[in-house]
Amino acid sequence: AAKAAGKNCVRTTGEALDRVVDRRARLARDLPGAIVDGGLSLALQPVVGLEEGRVLGLEALVRWRHPDLGDVPPEEFVGVAEDEGLIVPLQRWVLAAATAALAPLLAEGHDLQLGVNVSVRHLQAGCLAADVTRALAASGVPASRLMLEITESVLVDAEDRVERELAALREAGCMISIDDFGTGHSTLARLARLPVDVLKMDRDFVAHIEDDPRTAAVVASVVELGRTLGLDVVAEGVETPGQLAVLRGLGCRFLQGYLLGRPVPAAELPAVLAAPRAGVLDDDRLPSQV
Ligand code: C2E
Ligand code: MG
Ligand code: MG
Ligand code: MG
Repeated sequence: AAKAAGKNCVRTTGEALDRVVDRRARLARDLPGAIVDGGLSLALQPVVGLEEGRVLGLEALVRWRHPDLGDVPPEEFVGVAEDEGLIVPLQRWVLAAATAALAPLLAEGHDLQLGVNVSVRHLQAGCLAADVTRALAASGVPASRLMLEITESVLVDAEDRVERELAALREAGCMISIDDFGTGHSTLARLARLPVDVLKMDRDFVAHIEDDPRTAAVVASVVELGRTLGLDVVAEGVETPGQLAVLRGLGCRFLQGYLLGRPVPAAELPAVLAAPRAGVLDDDRLPSQV
């Protein structure tokens, strides 16, 4: 439990430890009800194409507002779901909600890709491909619209069962992206053989891209690597026009971050998609390029 308290908890008092244990027990007790009784919601964040000058995709991010504890960070309750055997129902809810949010936008003629985060436990459970297929059928969303986001470490250590699930998903026509790319430990040899379509560069890179030339050089080589392997590279966590300018200069074509758009409820998407991007993406409104 001391570990669960976080890295800052070097010396945890008995009382503080009790609070952490209490909170976790509380989340574990209340999460099943939230999954079945409408306690969860979805936020969708735009992914923008620099050359296209428009929103090309949306990433679905699960939200839980606990009645007493308030907003619980997804990393925290996804972890609880993984430990408590709740990840499959949680991810089924996310898949259903995300595809249901996308379907009307596609019907209106928007050309959008949908990113959904995947848990390794769901892959290991062996039913991810079947659950994805069911959500696509129920919503009428074509498989080619769906991109499953999987963290690097999962792909690197993938067991046979996980690889079979990934192969089945790609066979069905879904795309796969490596999330938080650069924080794991994939070798270049392994990367070249992974069944993936997109690299999502961790936002740590973007955060240091302006003040650290070495980081900028690494980003440039990731973009080049993507080009070599035929993978699109998305920069995550773009917050400032300066970061955008550097990324543009380095040839990174796909951007996600608060500068381009915050995660919003599905009801706000029509307004987000209608908003002009030119203000943010326009060259001459940005600082000089690298
Ligand atoms: P992620 O998949 O890497 O998602 C990106 C996270 O960065 C999101 O945090 C998003 O709100 C945040 N973000 C986007 N733009 C910016 C920016 O400009 N600056 C900063 N500082 N942050 C930005 P969020 O929603 O809190 O999600 C955190 C993580 O929780 C996600 O990281 C993902 O690993 C996990 N997660 C979220 N939803 C799901 C889900 O449905 N299933 C699973 N298994 N995991 C999920
Ligand atoms: Mg993600
Ligand atoms: Mg990420
Ligand atoms: Mg993350």
